[in-house]
Amino acid sequence: MKATDRKFYSPHDPYEDSPQSIGHGATISAPHMHGYALEYLQEALQPGVKVLDVGSGSGYLTACMAELVGPQGKVVGVDHIPELVTWSRQNVQRARPDYLEQGRILFVQGDGRLGYSPEAPYDVIHVGAASEGRPTQLLEQLKSPGKMFVPVEDSGHLGQSIILYDKASDGKVTQHTLMGVAYVPLTDPDTQTGRGLFL
Ligand code: SAH
Repeated sequence: MKATDRKFYSPHDPYEDSPQSIGHGATISAPHMHGYALEYLQEALQPGVKVLDVGSGSGYLTACMAELVGPQGKVVGVDHIPELVTWSRQNVQRARPDYLEQGRILFVQGDGRLGYSPEAPYDVIHVGAASEGRPTQLLEQLKSPGKMFVPVEDSGHLGQSIILYDKASDGKVTQHTLMGVAYVPLTDPDTQTGRGLFL
């Protein structure tokens, strides 16, 4: 995280330990949440591995993971808001143009609930927005072995918890509930930006 300066990714108060608005109903997560995600995935974020960052937003965590996977690795960031995809690419272009030139980072627009099949499978999947239930399609795009960090709505919508899914070499999936959190939901663009309210 020290190698990835937040000033390129957060338009307001980049060094505050709280989420900041990045427009379009999205936020850049707080540094401590990015820290948790990186720490829980650290073991799997080895040089040369392939990563999917769902809800890549500002591109900050995408860039942190690109630092860890090195020049032979690849991180695909997917977000459903086209303006955020363009902006995250510009952020990395200003901060670390080499990541884009090397193809170490690829930003694509799409519904991240479906993952990104052209680059699947992935050694690591990070999800930056809350899944309504078990993220089955993402689990299918996870390698054996592989690890996924994802906020999931608790049943009854009482809150959200981070779940760490661990896929073993034989494909068996185990899950650990880590902590209660408050992420924006994985949704569709109109719901997220409020446009759907006026239809
Ligand atoms: N991890 C990023 C952004 C977190 S906010 C950061 O720290 O900067 C959550 C992001 O998920 C937003 O950018 C939002 O646009 C995106 N998102 C929400 N639903 C999505 C979906 N269905 N597919 C792809 N991205 C989605």
